[in-house]
Amino acid sequence: MREPCAANFRRRMIAAQPLFGRVRARDWCDWRWQMSHSVTDPDRLPAWAGIPAAARAAAIRAAAQYPVRITPYYLSLARWDDAADPVLMQCLAAPQELQAEQIALADPLGERRSMPAPGLIRRYRNRALLLMTGACAVRCRHCNRKGLLSGQRPARLGPALRYLGAHPEIREVILSGGDPLLCKPEVLERTLAALRRLPGVEALRIGTRLPVVLPMRVDRALVRLLSRFRPLWVNTHFNHPNELTPESAAACDALIRAGIPVSNQAVLLKGVNDSADVLEALFNGLQRIMVRPYYLFECDAVRGAAHFRVGVRRGRALFRELRARLGGLSLPQYVLDEPGAAGKRPLA
Ligand code: SF4
Repeated sequence: MREPCAANFRRRMIAAQPLFGRVRARDWCDWRWQMSHSVTDPDRLPAWAGIPAAARAAAIRAAAQYPVRITPYYLSLARWDDAADPVLMQCLAAPQELQAEQIALADPLGERRSMPAPGLIRRYRNRALLLMTGACAVRCRHCNRKGLLSGQRPARLGPALRYLGAHPEIREVILSGGDPLLCKPEVLERTLAALRRLPGVEALRIGTRLPVVLPMRVDRALVRLLSRFRPLWVNTHFNHPNELTPESAAACDALIRAGIPVSNQAVLLKGVNDSADVLEALFNGLQRIMVRPYYLFECDAVRGAAHFRVGVRRGRALFRELRARLGGLSLPQYVLDEPGAAGKRPLA
């Protein structure tokens, strides 16, 4: 059987050819090619041609402040000439990003105040989060670390390990970033092995968007590496049913078959998925590919992303509708992440 990436190459290329010219299937399915050909200059995209000059100038300023990075694969899921496309909206700079917002913060969860060691965030008694890298395959416009990623230094493993070793009440460590699966395999392996040696750490979790935006990175070698460190869970981040492709399904399937459960943390985003029909299709689609819809987050008050916020009132109305439509296995929890709280606050 052909790999899903190769099998869908022709379809993706029809969408991608105007930007990337003629590409060989071998290159398209190579995650390194995808990374090195990612779009970082949004002026290349036709979606910008149609917007008024003033808005375009503001969007260019937004892109200068919050960098743009989009893999060719992720772009191939969008209609490029439509700035309201739900995939494009998640990755293309928008003029609203620089609007003054009274309640928005660069660090809405107060993570930088909760670092007992460089790159180690501890907001809960029994869990800690290790920032592995500031790199991402796609820079999501709604990211709650959007203003912090560029300057983010990877965790220095020594101090973080010493802290974790001295706090055996921390039983779960979440590898985050940026995207930890973009780290060199030897770095990932060294980190996972060191965490596994800590007697208090019972479970490991990886937060990654690669199954959604760069599924070819989830190759056999990476899956083999990860499977050596079970119990290990992967949390990924699908926000729209258009992101559910044979390629992304195959990436999740490879992890699941290796004994690594995959859950999804979606964010409620105005213009992207704030409709009961879209969310129903997303969560049912996730269940079809065996990915557990885990959380639906209220969008954080992050600077540069206020235009995505739907608001709790409307979020609750949407969730009531979803509860009537979905079975228990495809219904996530609708929650708000807050600084200083003991856990995610259920909103439903
Ligand atoms: S992949 Fe995750 S960390 Fe990176 S920009 Fe998107 S939401 Fe933020």
